[in-house]
Amino acid sequence: MDRLAERIRKLPRYLFAEIDKKVKEARDKGVDVISLGIGDPDSPTPDYIVKRMQEEVARVVNHSYPPDEGLAEFREAVAEYYGRRHGVDLDPQHEIVPLIGSKEGIAHIAFCFTDPGDVNLVPDPGYPVYSIGTLFAGGLPQLMPLLQQNNFIPDLDNIPVEAARRAKLLFLNYPNNPTGAVATSDFFAKVVQYARDYKLIVCHDAAYSEIAFDDYRPISFLEVEGGKDVAIEFGSLSKTFNMTGWRLGYAVGSRTAVEALYRFKTNVDSGIFKAIQQAGVEALTNPQMEPFIKDLRTLYQRRRDIAVQALNEAGWDLKPSQGTFYLWAPVPKGYTSTEFVSTILEQTGVVLTPGRGFGKYGEGYFRIALTVDEKRLQEAMQRIRNTIKFN
Ligand SMILES: *Cc1c(COP(=O)(O)O)cnc(C)c1O
Repeated sequence: MDRLAERIRKLPRYLFAEIDKKVKEARDKGVDVISLGIGDPDSPTPDYIVKRMQEEVARVVNHSYPPDEGLAEFREAVAEYYGRRHGVDLDPQHEIVPLIGSKEGIAHIAFCFTDPGDVNLVPDPGYPVYSIGTLFAGGLPQLMPLLQQNNFIPDLDNIPVEAARRAKLLFLNYPNNPTGAVATSDFFAKVVQYARDYKLIVCHDAAYSEIAFDDYRPISFLEVEGGKDVAIEFGSLSKTFNMTGWRLGYAVGSRTAVEALYRFKTNVDSGIFKAIQQAGVEALTNPQMEPFIKDLRTLYQRRRDIAVQALNEAGWDLKPSQGTFYLWAPVPKGYTSTEFVSTILEQTGVVLTPGRGFGKYGEGYFRIALTVDEKRLQEAMQRIRNTIKFN
């Protein structure tokens, strides 16, 4: 093991390992475990996409290497979708690059802009890939705390000026995993100004851009004035179309950033199976998208309401979240997030995610993923409510 590179040796300890072990122990003992731990949709990819894939997989033209820059049809479909959905004009040639799932692009963007010793501004709690990509590129993550009192939006005025001056990238993610928070266009406009002041590239992770409730519809960072000049936005078909296993996403926005990522990628991967890109075209452009997304929102919204109501009946005081399929809630007094999650698992067989797993500012919270059907969710919430009260 002493031959491992420092970047691997220095990787943060996997915080879920202990919980995974307990889940396995419980299952082995015959406990009926309900997992609200994983952010992976439980519903299938819609038929209209699967059918297109079945046709495309049989076509010999799709069996060879895809073009490095991705299929023109897929880039055009993304452009068409951005125009329709966000009113944003994208040049498919220079402002869009397909990704092997958005995680891949998020992990690699730091390699394009971050030199050893540079800083990247990273939200905490947050998706761990922003920090890991930064560390792999030799950079230093500067944490931007997401606090409840600020509605889980980073306070730009609180970022040390010294760090901002050394910073290359600023990561954001709205609707937000794990907090479920959403951002306003006013906030995005402030970020544009901040990015200009400090010459930063904004990396907006929009994985949950279609998962929103009530009347709220998430905005693209590129919708705000000047957004496209300073930002690269990462999109994903994973959560929108229940396609997590297909590995298809895209990066759009600033030509400089998109082309840098493209240059990086041509040197480390050879693109995405053409049949999958064609299925992605179908996903984004078929008129069935609209009713499908509407039903998907209704499905998660109903689950959200079940979970929020149950927790509030047990003494919590949660407001329904406006986006993502997560709920973010404080742990009762006297527990760390890991202790709370372990206690719930031992006493009820329900798996939650400890907030600490998303960074140090996630301590004191737990996350519920609304990725089980209503009956199982009801059962899980019933068990929690019968076991613990919030005080
Ligand atoms: C799920 C998720 C992603 C990654 O999705 P891909 O499957 O790689 O496209 C990115 N960011 C956040 C915050 C996520 O939750």
